Formats: sequence, C-alpha cells, structure tokens
Amino acid sequence: MATPIRYHVDLTDRLHHLVRVSMTVPEELATGARLVLPVWTPGSYVVRDYARHIQTIAARDVRGDTVELHRDGTTAWRLPGEVTGEGTVTWELYANDLSVRTNHVDDHHALLIPAATFLSVDGAEDHPHEVPLPPAPADHQVFSLLPPGPNPDTYLAADRDHLIDSAFEVGALPHLDVEVAGVPHTFVWSGHGGAPDLPRIAADLSAISEACRALFGGELPTDRYTILCTGWENGGGGLEHRDGTVLQMPVHTFQDPDLTARFRSLLTHEYLHLWNVKRLVPADLVRPAYDRPTHSESLWVAEGWTAYYDELLPTRAGLWQPRRLLDTLQATWGRTLDTPGVHRQSLRQASHEAWIKHYARDHNAPNVMTDYYGHGSLVAFELDLRLRAQDPGGDGLDTVFRLLWDRHGLDPAGFTEDDVLAAVATVGGDDLAALTERRVARPGLPELEEVVAAVGLRWDGDAATGAPHLGVHLRESDTEVVLASVLRDRPAWQGGLSGEDRLLAIDGRTVGRGRLTAILSAYDPGQEVAVTVARGPRLLTRTVTLGPPRPDRRLVRLHEPSPAAERAFARWCGGELRRIEP
Ligand SMILES: [Zn+2]
Repeated sequence: MATPIRYHVDLTDRLHHLVRVSMTVPEELATGARLVLPVWTPGSYVVRDYARHIQTIAARDVRGDTVELHRDGTTAWRLPGEVTGEGTVTWELYANDLSVRTNHVDDHHALLIPAATFLSVDGAEDHPHEVPLPPAPADHQVFSLLPPGPNPDTYLAADRDHLIDSAFEVGALPHLDVEVAGVPHTFVWSGHGGAPDLPRIAADLSAISEACRALFGGELPTDRYTILCTGWENGGGGLEHRDGTVLQMPVHTFQDPDLTARFRSLLTHEYLHLWNVKRLVPADLVRPAYDRPTHSESLWVAEGWTAYYDELLPTRAGLWQPRRLLDTLQATWGRTLDTPGVHRQSLRQASHEAWIKHYARDHNAPNVMTDYYGHGSLVAFELDLRLRAQDPGGDGLDTVFRLLWDRHGLDPAGFTEDDVLAAVATVGGDDLAALTERRVARPGLPELEEVVAAVGLRWDGDAATGAPHLGVHLRESDTEVVLASVLRDRPAWQGGLSGEDRLLAIDGRTVGRGRLTAILSAYDPGQEVAVTVARGPRLLTRTVTLGPPRPDRRLVRLHEPSPAAERAFARWCGGELRRIEP
C-alpha cells in the first residue's frame, strides 16, 4: 500500500480563528514535491482562492532543518530539488468565514472544509490520507465525514478526492445518532439560537431517505451519512459531500414552520446527491483538477433534476403539503419568466459558465444568464409531465432517473449528456429525447402550458390584475430602495435606468421600503412616470412608460379531472387532487 500522507490539525487557538495544519510528505515524494491547495471545492463551482487564508507556511526535513519552499503560482509551493528524508510542511490558516464552503473556527465550534484546509502532494492523489484530529478542548467532540482510522482520534481517507470531499465539525454541540435503512446517520447543529427538535429531525430523515430509496431502488449507497448543520442570522444553503453534507440555515429555523419546510427540502436536495452527483457523476467531474476550474455541461441534471426532486420527494414523503409543491413550482416559473437571460443562455452554457456567471452574479445577471437549478427543474417538470401523459400509469421521469442510475451509477467513467438523452429515449421515445436536447442546447423556456393536465392541473390567473410594472428587481432596506436589476427591454430599461440605481421618487413622491406596488397601482399601464434615482453621486430623473401588470398565475385543479388524472396526480406527488382548489 502507498505511504499515507499524514496531517496534523492544531485547534488550540480557536478563539483567534487560527488553525495550524502540518503535513508529512513521504521520503519517496519529498524531493521537488509540488504542494497544492485547491482553489475551489466540489459542488460550488467558483474559484475561491483559498490560499489567501494562509498566514504563514514553512517546511522542514527529517532532521528538523528548515528547507526553502518556492512559490509555484498562486496556490502551490515546491519543495527544493533535494530533501533529506520525509518533509514536514506547516501552515497557519485564518478561518473566520462562516459558509458551507469556507472554514469557520471560534470558541463555539470549528467547521473545516477540506478544500480550504489541506494542501496535497501532486502525484500522491491515490495515497491514503490520514488526519489525526483530537478534540480541542477535550470536552468537545469531533464529527467527521471520514471513517475512523487505525489510531485513536484519527480519520482515514482512501485517497485525495475522498479527503477533499469530507468536512469536519468540532464542538460541544447538540447532535443526533440514528440508524436509517440500517446505516448510521449523524445530525449535528452548530447554529446559535433555538435548538433543533432532534426526534423530529430523525423522523424527517427517515422519511426523506425512504423517498430517495424508492426513487432509485436498492440499498442506500453509503455505509454512513453525516449532516453538519450550521446556523447564522439569515441565508441558507448546502454543499454535498460523498458521505454527508454541510448545511446552513437561519438560527431560528427549527422554531419556524416555513423555514422547517425549507430545511426539509434542503436536506432532501443534499441527500439526493448521495446518488445524483456523488455516485452518478458527470463525466467531467469524475477526477476534477483542484487548482483550476473543472467545467461540466451537465449541471442541469446534477443540480436541476435534484432541485426538482427536492420539492417533489418531501411531498411524496408527507413532509410537504401538495399545495406547497404547486406554490413552489409556480414561483419558479414566475421567476424564470422574469429572467430575460433565459432567452440568451442555454442550460448547457449555464452549466459550463457556472464559474463566471451563476457564482459571480451582479445586477446585470438576470439579463445574461439562466439558473440551471430553477430552469433545470422546470425542464425536469416538463419531461416528467410529458412522460406521465404518454403513460398515465407509469412513473414519468422517475423511470428515466432510475435507468440512468442503473446504467451509470458507480460508473468510474461517470455519465455524459448523451447518456441522459439515451435514457430519455428508452423510456419516452426519440422525439422526447430530441425535445430534451433542444431544451438544453438552446436558450428559451420549457412549455408548461398544456402539459400540467397530465396530472389534473391547469394554470389560473390569465387576466392580469394588480399594479402596472417597471420591470425591475428591488433590494430594499429601511434606509434605501435599490434597483437590484433592471430587466432588459422592460419599461425601466427602455427609460434608461440601470441596475444599482437607488430609487428615490416617482412623480416627486418618495419611495420607501415596501411602497412601490402601492404607488404604481395609482397609475394605468401605458402611463408615463418620472422616476428619480441616485446613481453614485448623480441625481437623475427619467421618463418611464409603465408596463401592464404581471400575470399572477397559479396551478389549480382542472374543473372536471378524470379518474385517470386523479390517479396520475397521486402517483406523481403522493397527494389527493381533490384537495387542490379548482
Ligand atoms: Zn445541489
């Protein structure tokens, strides 16, 4: 067996957000070794330059003599051409950035994201990587996504990819150990604020796991699953790992029914990644490079389909009411309609350009990009409904997803877009595969108008009511109302307003937080208004011709759904169609 790369993690200066890590470079690799810190972490496709958090770095040989480290680009170092025995490299990290993709260490806890923490040795990707991590202080506990190693307080990664895909949490934290489907699951809460209801989380986890297993069939594809959940004032998100996930939710999530519903969806999303992404892997992401971007054109499946099922499966599991599922789908549809970029960027491009668009959004983003999560989930919705219309007694997109899993799950070569289209063709025919290809390759919207009838639904609210619109997205606070985005070719754009303009007044009347709709409802569509904004140091007034009210469309029940449609609805989401209002 190859010599393990051994690390040591020193957490004794947590109060100052400092982490000291050292790594032994085996003798056979030490001479001239290139040591690399990733610039990104799998699942979050943007260059984060984690090396900026390194405060100091130094190397010694086996005698303890200092050896000079040479910088090799922004994120790598080289040991010199001659090193006596094994080398030891030690670095200090500043870790004070709480997110699911960055390190955060303080007196309360220590969340370590491996990509941001561990240098690795080029050429030693297949060596085992061993992390001794004794708890500090001693009454804290270490929670690791890696399995335990041969020595006490040690965790063992089979190779470098495994290490980079396995986060750590340390603290005296509320947690839950529970067996689900014969597999140990751990949930850890490092948020401040209200404690989670652990028995309820155990029940949620069991229901989510069952719904996911029913989707893909067979056993759970891991022998352990760990959820590290942190909480901050606002925000939320998750990052999938091979055998677990890191989540972030607002601190009062478990005291708030709406946030609890979002938590269940987020947990479902990351749990689905156990299959989709982590074991059914886009071919480009099978063995990614960590010192530069690794592009994939399949994020519309990896994230889009996962996003579709993270709403559908909680409904099937009884954790969401069907009305919530419909509300969420129609909100995603409304958001996508209000994204001019959907007509400029295809889903394939959106996947490829995630690094420079999705993860680098600015005020112009809605005009130039589409969201492979939301838009991807709507394409999944359309395919699902078309398949259910073809075969009302069938399982729609579930059958395609399971076929893709059966054909390419655990495949060391991963899957390609052609494999997805082939699975669609097998289940739904060549025409549906061709339509899928068009949806992915060309900019534009899916067609959701007629297809919802397959599960007994229709769209309501064609006659738009409400206030005329400016065609902007707002960012509001108590002190300012900002045009976060001005949508291309919509009224404010045509009037010459820009994203980041600060909205001050309409026809001389000031606009405060939450007031815009009420102010505009005094006007008719087609009327001109004088919009005053502050753009940096300039004060500007532009004339804008108001657009018609935006349609507020809802998914409701067909007036007279057939018994077949009622059965299809139940098969689709597990709910009763007659409980949805017509
Ligand atoms: Zn995801």
